[in-house]
Amino acid sequence: MPDKTIICKDCNSEFIFTEGEQAFYQEKGFQNEPQRCPSCRQARKQQRRNFNGRGNRSFGDNREFNNKW
Ligand SMILES: [Zn+2]
Repeated sequence: MPDKTIICKDCNSEFIFTEGEQAFYQEKGFQNEPQRCPSCRQARKQQRRNFNGRGNRSFGDNREFNNKW
């Protein structure tokens, strides 16, 4: 599989979904391609961590994040 260029949903910048990452996704059984560039993904991960620190109010939402990641 060749590298893929994807437009980030959050910041609209292009990023590369590399062959290695595609293999990783397949290995994990993810059906979807990533929608966000690595830095936005990182930012969201950190948000999630902060969120969890404050309580479990939106556990369902967090699960959805994981699926869409
Ligand atoms: Zn982005």
